[in-house]
Amino acid sequence: MSQFGEIYRDEDVDISVLHGKTIAIIGYGSQGKAQGKSLRDSGINVIVGVGDRTVHNSWKDAEADGFAVYDIEEAVKQADIVHILLQDPAQPAVYYSSIHAHLRPGQTLSFAHGFAILYGTIKPPKDVDVILFVPNGPGPVVRRKFKEGSGIYGAVAVDQDASGHAAATALAIAKGVGSTRVGTIKLSFQHETEGDNFEEQVLYGGAIQLMRSIYKVMTDNGYPASFAYAKAVRSIRSIIDDIDEVGVEEYLTRRASRTCEFAVRTSGPRVINEDAIQQIFEETEKGIFARNWLNEFNLGMPTLNRMRRTWADSDMERTGKLFRDKFGMS
Ligand code: NDP
Ligand code: MG
Repeated sequence: MSQFGEIYRDEDVDISVLHGKTIAIIGYGSQGKAQGKSLRDSGINVIVGVGDRTVHNSWKDAEADGFAVYDIEEAVKQADIVHILLQDPAQPAVYYSSIHAHLRPGQTLSFAHGFAILYGTIKPPKDVDVILFVPNGPGPVVRRKFKEGSGIYGAVAVDQDASGHAAATALAIAKGVGSTRVGTIKLSFQHETEGDNFEEQVLYGGAIQLMRSIYKVMTDNGYPASFAYAKAVRSIRSIIDDIDEVGVEEYLTRRASRTCEFAVRTSGPRVINEDAIQQIFEETEKGIFARNWLNEFNLGMPTLNRMRRTWADSDMERTGKLFRDKFGMS
């Protein structure tokens, strides 16, 4: 078996390394809200740093949630741990305008994705710790699980260990957000970042393209749109939880029909182009995906804006809205 990865649970992690420390959450969006509130509920002193209040509205959310909110510069000055939860391509400009010059030796710079560090768009000074903690899920789910007394599987990584205890800090943050309740592993910045970017391209990109292709081929061939939509999108809900719960083989041989098992084993591999997946992996490892995304972002996202317009107006989206209205989420 491939190397599984060492698992850290609550009993392995000492959260008291964060006591008496201040964590500044920089950016109060999906992850900022979830991690900020959960760390506070875990007894940690949390403040929030936001960008220009005439442009960035999230300071209102942070104040409404009871946090002391500061300009990013001031939050960095007050913090022991600067936890950067801004969207990734925006991080370098904010870092160099409002964070870099205010960092002190002994502080910790923390991220939820290794993108800016791995690709060198942020180069921190040598006398701070550089760590990462990422829960494997979107902010609202992270927060809901925390409140239920559970958590989301997580990962920590250390890129720079100036203090000698950078990993302990990262694991303590993971514990404060609930991720060591279910298990957290140690990764490298490279594996976290490129693994995430690879998954987004291949798993999310591939699955969504598959849904679109199924919908198109079925409707092009005269099937009712509601039925094509159910086959393209809704069906995946019924199998994914089962597969996660019992494994692929148990699902195929015991829960699926024999016809389904035959279909999966014989036609499934023909749908997937493994050469393309390998090529995407290599492009990701060469930084080509990162370069393309940074270019796109810096140009004002022309490709994303254009594709959003096409797809928001597509037959499949209109069918999806009607499908949810008529059939609900069951
Ligand atoms: P969001 O897009 O939800 O939040 C971004 C925050 O950054 C908002 O508060 C926004 O403020 C602020 N912001 C954006 N641009 C600027 C700017 N130029 N100056 C100042 N503030 C700015 O981000 P996420 O929570 O999705 O992502 C944060 C980090 O977490 C990323 O590194 C991401 O990769 C990582 N991550 C995200 C996951 C997710 O599911 N969302 C999962 C795991 C990791 P305002 O709205 O006021 O403009
Ligand atoms: Mg991601």
